[in-house]
Amino acid sequence: MLVPMSNIAMLEESRIIAEAKTYCLKYKERLTLPRLEVLQIIAESKKPLSAYAILEKLKEICKSPKPPTVYRAICFWQQKGFISRIESLGAYVICQVEHRDKGSQFMICDECGSVTRANLKLLPQALTDNIDENTFLASRWSIEIHGQCSRCKST
Ligand SMILES: [Zn+2]
Repeated sequence: MLVPMSNIAMLEESRIIAEAKTYCLKYKERLTLPRLEVLQIIAESKKPLSAYAILEKLKEICKSPKPPTVYRAICFWQQKGFISRIESLGAYVICQVEHRDKGSQFMICDECGSVTRANLKLLPQALTDNIDENTFLASRWSIEIHGQCSRCKST
């Protein structure tokens, strides 16, 4: 597929894209245009995006994006730790901090839809104790807290 130069220039502006390029070069992963575009769309969004919303935004850039290609691109970035899935919303956000954390935790505002990430590296002790008591081996985790953000709370 031919890529218009303006699109390439636009994609290169983003820090996350630069990181993605470095990553793919280092680990010999293919950095296809659909992968780049999907990552860029998620990075530019102020709110979590569902796969469907990503597909809709992609339609603004290219004529007929193929859903399986888009879903595979989403899956790729999630596996590589560039994006996180918010399970309760079925939507994706960009990872702002260092990749490949075992867990993710989000504060989700039910009014404006904003998402704040808490950068915990470890689970709270009470939870760790409980996991230990059950001799459960935790490999990854996700905590999603719904409520009101500070802006919505004060209005
Ligand atoms: Zn809010």
